[in-house]
Amino acid sequence: MKRRNFIKNASLTGVGLAVGSSLASCDDHSKEEKALVNTPHNSEKGSIPLVIATWNVKKSTLKAWETIQNGGSALDAVEQGCRVEEADETGQTVGKGGLPDREGNVTLDACVMNQHGHCGAVVYLKDITHAVSVARKVMEDTPHVMLAGDGAKQFALSKGFQPENLLTEASKAAWEQWKVEANYKPIINIENHDTIGMLAIDSNGDISGACTTSGLAYKMAGRVGDSPIIGSGLFVDNEIGACVATGLGEEVVKTVGSFLVVELMRQGKTPQEACEEAIGRIVNKPNSNYKDFQVGYIALNKKGETGYYSIHEGFSMTKYQDGVNEQLQSDFFNKA
Ligand code: ASP
Repeated sequence: MKRRNFIKNASLTGVGLAVGSSLASCDDHSKEEKALVNTPHNSEKGSIPLVIATWNVKKSTLKAWETIQNGGSALDAVEQGCRVEEADETGQTVGKGGLPDREGNVTLDACVMNQHGHCGAVVYLKDITHAVSVARKVMEDTPHVMLAGDGAKQFALSKGFQPENLLTEASKAAWEQWKVEANYKPIINIENHDTIGMLAIDSNGDISGACTTSGLAYKMAGRVGDSPIIGSGLFVDNEIGACVATGLGEEVVKTVGSFLVVELMRQGKTPQEACEEAIGRIVNKPNSNYKDFQVGYIALNKKGETGYYSIHEGFSMTKYQDGVNEQLQSDFFNKA
């Protein structure tokens, strides 16, 4: 089962890319999600340790939770959790089996950020499944925060990561099908993309986060989204809380979304209020075409309270807290 399939026909002007969107008519997965209990304002309930992730990724949150229970740090937890999705070839938006760019190359973006404010990222990484672990190595073993493309791959190989062909038969077939109708001006297609973003508070009360994605399917070669950009796709402040994003990365970058959510929490907002205001910054822009794209945020604060919100119906968060691993349907802005 796919985690989701909710951005269809999102239009992205200015870079010559348009991807289609019929958000109201989500797939079977979102129908299943609609049946879930909608608990959008659960911020009042806080406890640690805690793991939250974008979308329906209970195996990943379980892995992260177990990592903490076994004495691991929040950083260990989010890395291990993200690796579960990266290794899952049936997920076509993360790691191995991710949908390729227009040229048929699967390119990955990922980052990590820990309780000290240290961070590492890789962008446009090819042929390495566990981009999140390469990002962690960038943080821990280099003087830099971000490595791109060939340099990122060379670094990964030097650290013992094995090269692999990330384009599975299923993703290759989907790309070839897309090429039949590919129209570059404008391009109208059906997208399937999302990010696994994960945040954790460990038994010491320390916060870390990670995210990993293959980005927009059939993106322009060289395109990088929000996910590896610290402050946009992910931000952690161990004094306050953390946030991670999914959805149309260009829109998240334009509002520096995850940093914004954390700063709003610093000003006293609950995680839920902060996520809602950050979505508001996108949809309330003059001439916003928010009806054509999705963005979702999840956040937690130092007390272990959580929030999650999206522009459109269909987004969900997986939360492991108090021994319960559950998928929660998100509230959303566009009720019209
Ligand atoms: N945010 C990711 C990107 O724009 C994709 C997604 O989460 O749907 O690359």
